[in-house]
Amino acid sequence: MAMIRQPRDLATSIRQAVDRKAVLFSHFLFAITACVHTALDPTSLNYEIAGVIILCSIFLILALFRSFDLASLNNHPRRYLTAYIIIAFLGLAFFTDPVTPYDFLWFIIIYLMNLYYGARGVWITVAAYGLTSLAKLAFMTYMEYVDYSEQLYIVAGFFIFTSIASFFVNVQKVFDWDRLQLRKTSQIALVEQKRLLALINSMTESVLVLDNSGVVRLYNAATLALLDTNRDLNNQPLSNFAHFEKDARPLDVKAILPTNNLPSIRNDILLRYDESDVAALSMTITPIRTAFGSDVAEAGYILTMRDITREKSLEEERDEFISVISHELRTPVAITEANISNALFVVESNKDISTIQTSLAAAHEQALFLANMINDLSTLSRAERGKLNLTLEEIDVRELVDELYRDYQESIEAKGLQLVKQVENDAPRLLVSNRLYVKEILQNFITNAQKYTKAGTIILQLAKSETGNVRFSVTDTGIGISTSDQKKIFNKFYRSEDYRTRETSGTGLGLYITKKLMELIGAKVTVISELNKGSTFSVDIPNTNRHRPPEPSKPATPLQSPSEGVH
Ligand code: ADP
Repeated sequence: MAMIRQPRDLATSIRQAVDRKAVLFSHFLFAITACVHTALDPTSLNYEIAGVIILCSIFLILALFRSFDLASLNNHPRRYLTAYIIIAFLGLAFFTDPVTPYDFLWFIIIYLMNLYYGARGVWITVAAYGLTSLAKLAFMTYMEYVDYSEQLYIVAGFFIFTSIASFFVNVQKVFDWDRLQLRKTSQIALVEQKRLLALINSMTESVLVLDNSGVVRLYNAATLALLDTNRDLNNQPLSNFAHFEKDARPLDVKAILPTNNLPSIRNDILLRYDESDVAALSMTITPIRTAFGSDVAEAGYILTMRDITREKSLEEERDEFISVISHELRTPVAITEANISNALFVVESNKDISTIQTSLAAAHEQALFLANMINDLSTLSRAERGKLNLTLEEIDVRELVDELYRDYQESIEAKGLQLVKQVENDAPRLLVSNRLYVKEILQNFITNAQKYTKAGTIILQLAKSETGNVRFSVTDTGIGISTSDQKKIFNKFYRSEDYRTRETSGTGLGLYITKKLMELIGAKVTVISELNKGSTFSVDIPNTNRHRPPEPSKPATPLQSPSEGVH
């Protein structure tokens, strides 16, 4: 059984619809011609003419049925065509003249058979035509029809019909081959297109194709992530999804597109999500040229975008770092330089030695400040690069408290403050941790307490935490820290806006470094503070597990421990 070639695409469906109308129309013409033929020559109304009229009417009815799909014939072309061939066979063989113009009905059958069954259908029609011709010849012999020219016409007609059918099949082959090539080419194009889409979809940068009026024609998955949307962007103006800004002013998409044919790169545009959320973008806009090298023929733009908010904030942080450090360095260097030159002047003029001593002491103090700051910076840089190592040792915590007390008592009392040491009875004796880091953490708390307290007492306390760990606390009666500031004081470069803080020098790095060191030894800090009353910084330090994987290749990073703390 031949497979029915069901029409698949739109073009075939249209062709088929036209075919149906054409068949209907041709039958209609045949029927009219037969009627006119009879009307013009009523005497010729013999059985042959009657046969033609009957045949044409049957075909017309069939075509009507098919054209308007009255018996769902369109879904069953095989039934329709079989009926058609049988009627043609019987009608043209037995009811019409041996050779009649109505033989052309076979061409309609060929056409339809080819449409549904291809070459095989055409050859079936040829066979049916051959059988009809044979039947006609047999019928003529039976009727003792002696005009042999008619028989010759029938035979010749068969050969002509066969040649035309063969021509039909070959033309169809060419069409089929073309269609196959077209399908292959479009399949290749489809694969290429899919490959291209997979490529741009796997890119982490957002890629968009815009037309000249800023309407999106193509986009990748990263674009949806960047614009924070799930909607289909195709054929929609980009401005519906992206709200660009420059210098705090909204920027229209069209204003971003370059007016010349050169690609443009921009890092000054922001993408606003909502009032508080905004991303800095790095954007490349490349005009598309349909004809390469042509200046005029452009078909839109390729827009690539990348979120550079983090890079920008790092850049800003670096700028802030440079500005803070240069500002902080300027004062001590200037004071040191002034005092040394003063001392030199005094030496040269052989004046009072006590003036030299005061100048050198001031210069020494500032040099110490600089040394501390450099120490801070180097610790910070190592902490940022994750290069701080942990060597563990047993620390006698009471001895450590004594040492800190000894180190700071003099300078604290020199400021008119009192330093008190409190060691609780149940406080642990030993701690396994890194002594250098523990000492540096406490030094930071003590120097801050000293710096931000004008009068009163500083208490250095050693106790046992609820979890049984060692707890060190530094309590002062100083300026205190507001609740909102308490959340920020461990941030890099953060210094309170309080004028009393600003009276003292500092970089806002001390507590940030302390936080890094605490993370390293697993310590937890608690800050309790009230403005104008004072602050308590408590740190719970656990015994660090000795079996923690050591890093033997690297020796412990020797942190310089400044004699007077970090600040
Ligand atoms: P710096 O002291 O150089 O400013 P820190 O990181 O050590 O930097 O401290 C950050 C900020 O925390 C200080 O600027 C100050 O505002 C606040 N602060 C820290 N310790 C105290 C304290 N004991 N009393 C009041 N404010 C403090």
